[in-house]
Amino acid sequence: MTAAAHILVVEDEPKLATLLRDYLERDGYRTTMLHDGAAVVAWVRQHAPDLVLLDLLLPGKDGLSICRELRSFSELPIIMVTARVEEIDRLLGLEIGADDYICKPFSPREVVARVRALLRRARVNAGPATERPLQFDDDRFEARLHGKPLPLTRVEYRLLRALAEHPGHVLSRNQLMNSLYLDHRVVSDRTVDSHVKNLRRKLTEAVPDQDLLSSIYGLGYKLDWS
Ligand code: CA
Repeated sequence: MTAAAHILVVEDEPKLATLLRDYLERDGYRTTMLHDGAAVVAWVRQHAPDLVLLDLLLPGKDGLSICRELRSFSELPIIMVTARVEEIDRLLGLEIGADDYICKPFSPREVVARVRALLRRARVNAGPATERPLQFDDDRFEARLHGKPLPLTRVEYRLLRALAEHPGHVLSRNQLMNSLYLDHRVVSDRTVDSHVKNLRRKLTEAVPDQDLLSSIYGLGYKLDWS
């Protein structure tokens, strides 16, 4: 299954792009290379690759804008590549929706390992709805974890629903608050924290051996079941 995965490498430094291609192909992946940022979105729409390795600084259009545009229509796994480790904090804070970040200079082996891990995670989350651990009934505000109903309030239901839509992604308090505005209430960020705390407790009571919901200091919250 992995062998057929198609990776788009967006990198304007030819040497680096070739290095990545060689390592990925040696590991059995199919690759396409693009050097111009302006060509990426249309290419992805047309070819639907399995994963994108996306350099931050590109001619034509920067990686940040590309990532945002891709996220407006696709959940495909995106790994951002940046030249500076400090950039990663900034990128995380911008909520651009990338799944992982790699800092240059990188070891191509590590890149391949991250690609493999992310594809595995994407496959788990893309499984048929009936095989997913969490099921949602929006009419009844009922969430089931491994088939067992969770005793959630409406706010907790909405929080869990929002987190489950982006498994493995960190959602900021602001993003979570936006998901609660559907309830037409004004919710402060501290309130979000206490609702998340309650939600987390209920999830832990339901599956004590698994830490599904984690808090990422200074950034937000993340739901992960892979
Ligand atoms: Ca570049």
